[in-house]
Amino acid sequence: MDTTLNSQSNDTGDSSSLLKEMTFQLTVTRAMLKTVELDQILYIILSGITHGDGLNFNRAVLFLAWDRRNELRVTRSAGPANGEEAHRIWESIKAERLNLENLFDRYNVSAGEPQYLTTRLSGFSLKLDEATPMSSLDKSSFTLSEVLSHCVATKQPYYVNGREAYYDDQISEDAVIFKNFACTPIFLNDEVFGLILTDNLYNLRVIHGDEMRGLSAVANLASIALERALLYRRLKEMAQVDGLTGVFNRRYYEKYLHDEFIRSKRLMRSLAMIVFDIDLFKQCNDVYGHECGDRVLRQFAQLLKSNTREEDLIARYGGEEFVVLLTGESTGNGAFAAAEKLRSIVEKTAFDDFEPGKITVSAGVSIVSSDENFEELFTRADQALYEAKRAGRNQVCLFGSPKQTSQD
Ligand code: GH3
Ligand code: MG
Ligand code: MG
Repeated sequence: MDTTLNSQSNDTGDSSSLLKEMTFQLTVTRAMLKTVELDQILYIILSGITHGDGLNFNRAVLFLAWDRRNELRVTRSAGPANGEEAHRIWESIKAERLNLENLFDRYNVSAGEPQYLTTRLSGFSLKLDEATPMSSLDKSSFTLSEVLSHCVATKQPYYVNGREAYYDDQISEDAVIFKNFACTPIFLNDEVFGLILTDNLYNLRVIHGDEMRGLSAVANLASIALERALLYRRLKEMAQVDGLTGVFNRRYYEKYLHDEFIRSKRLMRSLAMIVFDIDLFKQCNDVYGHECGDRVLRQFAQLLKSNTREEDLIARYGGEEFVVLLTGESTGNGAFAAAEKLRSIVEKTAFDDFEPGKITVSAGVSIVSSDENFEELFTRADQALYEAKRAGRNQVCLFGSPKQTSQD
């Protein structure tokens, strides 16, 4: 068996294979430029690598430092879970005469399909700044970490025939094994941002040097598409998130509330809202300065985030006013208790250089059932907030039950 371990290729290929290569690249480019959705871009990359009209690998895994900047994690993969499934897929592609373009167009059909390697490698991570090259390449087997780490550290693609790589934590019968594999870096601003790992576990097809050119071309296309997707994601975030505090902005909140109204009506579910307003905040600004005020706002937003449930929506409504939309809360008392808990945490917290108790908040709580007019939700909460302020601040008031304030 061939036991090459290479990082360079001298093959140039004949004109028909060059034409095939260019057609492939053009098809992938065209498909990628149609979308800015990350998952769809990754689907195109992996389908291109594994399809017979593409690079014809058995399996492919994409590792990206997407959510955590310094950490590579598996983001998407393509390829069957075992030899039988591999055979079935090859037969069905032949029978359906699925060419690459058709395959790319099937994204919506395939999007939710299980990805065997994504699941199996979900625990894998590699810190980019800790990557080191392998000291010796003359080994009979590798761990997945060694292989990927080497590629990140050397910034070079390479391929291995006739040896195996194991997913590190599982040197057992059940281990994830890669055979006849290639590893190709994806760059963003000259830094490694991701890796493509491909292999031929099922048919043990030997990888030739000239195939690395195809993989590097796909990696280059991927980096352009990923840069566009990143930019798109940042713009989308900027349009939704308040720049000072990092919680959602009013525009997003209004859109979300509108959608939530429709959902709640359909599900016959009630909606609850808390409106918070920091007490005497103007004084805080006047005495300690605007920057101190900004720090208090940021800390308060963070406090709301860490003391509410994942599914609650937190938004900065304006100035020092924040809303919390409790989608799972169906009783006024439950929403009141949630608001009271937050008010009490604020009272016990040392904000910026202030002692605990110096920064307090008032809150208004409201609830509407699915047969009521949902537009009332904010108006009622705001009225309740007004009551809480009138009653002396640092308290919570539930709309419709004027006696229920937290200072009672
Ligand atoms: P009350 O207890 O009645 O709510 O009194 P208050 O002083 O909090 O109420 P008021 O509405 O008069 O003051 C709100 C202050 O919030 C005024 C404004 O300067 C300040 N503010 C609004 N947005 C920002 C911001 O982004 N940063 C800072 N530092 N202050 C802000
Ligand atoms: Mg205010
Ligand atoms: Mg205020």
